[in-house]
Amino acid sequence: MLQVTPVRAFTDNYIWLIHSPADTARVVAVDPGDARPVERTLAERNLTLAGILITHHHADHVGGVADLLRNRSIPIYGPANESIPGNPTRLREGDRASLPDLDLEFQVLDVPGHTAGHIAYVGHGAVFCGDTLFSAGCGRLFEGTAEQMHASLSKLATLPAETLVYCAHEYTLSNLKFGRAVEPNNQATARYQAECLELRARDQATIPTNIRRERNVNPFLRCDDQSVKQAAEAHAGRRLQSEPEVFAVIRQWKDGFR
Ligand code: ZN
Ligand code: FE
Repeated sequence: MLQVTPVRAFTDNYIWLIHSPADTARVVAVDPGDARPVERTLAERNLTLAGILITHHHADHVGGVADLLRNRSIPIYGPANESIPGNPTRLREGDRASLPDLDLEFQVLDVPGHTAGHIAYVGHGAVFCGDTLFSAGCGRLFEGTAEQMHASLSKLATLPAETLVYCAHEYTLSNLKFGRAVEPNNQATARYQAECLELRARDQATIPTNIRRERNVNPFLRCDDQSVKQAAEAHAGRRLQSEPEVFAVIRQWKDGFR
């Protein structure tokens, strides 16, 4: 299994350091929004930065790229259809991010919705999905439509159930509060909330999650579920005909949820 070290950045971002299976002292950084905590972790743990993967163009995901590349000549990969600093190799669905000397290779998925060109990296039993799929939630629709985001999340939901999900933010507890409102009778959500409350009380990460759990607790992956559909219809005050419609209603509901 992949060895991955979390680096905390800003208030709730995770910058993931993926260790090379060939040499665990060499790492690839995913979405380094801030160079300082990355440099600190590299120095503390005697790690060498050997590559960068970018999921989308937001500043909290690319803000550290220029500084990290200043004294390094390392590969950087990013979405084909977004403007990313550091002149990355531009990837779209079907492409691979290949780092052969590190024994690392990831398949690229297009997952538009949060941003128009957002991509995810799948490989080694893990997915690095930026701000598309969160634990018990999903990213806001800044550039894409509800239909696009629903399709992107459905694509991620078809990954093998054991796939570890490395998203870019620790939003799990607030997402679960919303999840309980949508599905008050979902016992898996209730149990997971209790687990996460304990983890967060000890200042531990709830991430990575996995696809199996997300299918069970994440309302945004459960638009086909009757209770989620009924909750969305009650909130909207009308009948909803399709899963994307259910998705659109709960996404909007969450935007105004406190
Ligand atoms: Zn973002
Ligand atoms: Fe973000």
